[in-house]
Amino acid sequence: MTERLYFQDPYLKSFTARVIGRLDVEGRPAVLLDRTAFYPTSGGQPHDTGRIGDAEVLEVLEDGGRILHVLSSPVKEDELLCEVDFKRRYDHMQQHTAQHILSRAFELLAHADTVGFHLGKETTTIDLSVRELPQETILRVEELANAKVFENRPVRTFVVPYEELSKYNVRKPPEPREWVRLVEVSGFDVCGCGGTHVRHTGETGLIKVVGTERVRSDVRVHMVSGKRALRDFRQNLDLVHRCAAMLSAAPADLPDAIARILRENDERFRTISHMAEDLLQFRAREYIQQKKGRLVSDLLQGYTVEQARILVQRIVQHPDTVALFGVDSDRPSLIFARSDDVDLDMLRLLQLALPLIDGRGGGNPRFAQGGGKRQEGLKEALQLAVSAAYAGS
Ligand SMILES: [Zn+2]
Repeated sequence: MTERLYFQDPYLKSFTARVIGRLDVEGRPAVLLDRTAFYPTSGGQPHDTGRIGDAEVLEVLEDGGRILHVLSSPVKEDELLCEVDFKRRYDHMQQHTAQHILSRAFELLAHADTVGFHLGKETTTIDLSVRELPQETILRVEELANAKVFENRPVRTFVVPYEELSKYNVRKPPEPREWVRLVEVSGFDVCGCGGTHVRHTGETGLIKVVGTERVRSDVRVHMVSGKRALRDFRQNLDLVHRCAAMLSAAPADLPDAIARILRENDERFRTISHMAEDLLQFRAREYIQQKKGRLVSDLLQGYTVEQARILVQRIVQHPDTVALFGVDSDRPSLIFARSDDVDLDMLRLLQLALPLIDGRGGGNPRFAQGGGKRQEGLKEALQLAVSAAYAGS
């Protein structure tokens, strides 16, 4: 059995331990120690890292009560100096304690029980058994949680027999077992937990909800505290300043500045759309004026497929007209259409021409459209359709 030093002192950074077992975890060397301050991945909190002797601790796993320290290389000695990466661990202690405080605040103010918790790389998530969480509630919860942080309340960890649990007002009672480890935020919250926590709430630093999402029938809250809150603040402030500089606006004027740009953009888009439509109308008229017989055909460049489609539709508004167009764009396309008074099957022509551009498409006897992969076959495909149209008309 390994003595879990992190239970008594989560601040322990270095210790000596004796190797009591050597094994292999998926091809990687691992050791069992007589005592350890390395926290194994469990209860939503990720494992610690650090060093055991000369080896790096890559992962710490709990396996049927055993704590496996997975190492970067085997260690020969039996007695070893071990060091926990305390920067990582302390971050976990801050996030984990902040989670207890926030979960309790959600329980008090939103009647929302915590049904899941995961300490992630970027944020810590708390799954709450509520259908929805109004922003106004979140703000009140944040205020209560941070008030408890500012009060710098002691955080105490102790073990009690299961049958004495009813003496404590335990949020989320644990599964029945002989002994239960409780974590108490003095005068605010008692919760069964085997993780690592700070000694005073002030150490968690600011607690901030940074997002929510629906997960099945619950709401998942993303939160940060401590250095993560500082990092988040910096990143967001940096974003705001960069956007403000791009728009030559004061940060407070950003919403107005963005709304103005969107409005102007919308107006420009409408103007351009009208002009493009006029231009297509004009081009359609040109094609009609130049047409010999009923057939109009061209290989278009500098057109989007959508623009080409509109052009073709404009052209075939004129009676006795067949328009067979190719579009030389990223995706070579064919657009075939005819006026209502012509008896010629556009879909048949398209099906004839598509193999030459290795394409797919569809339509009906009056209008057919398709795109392909073979740019080099586009001209030939169009010629084939034109010949077939002459033959068929
Ligand atoms: Zn905990």
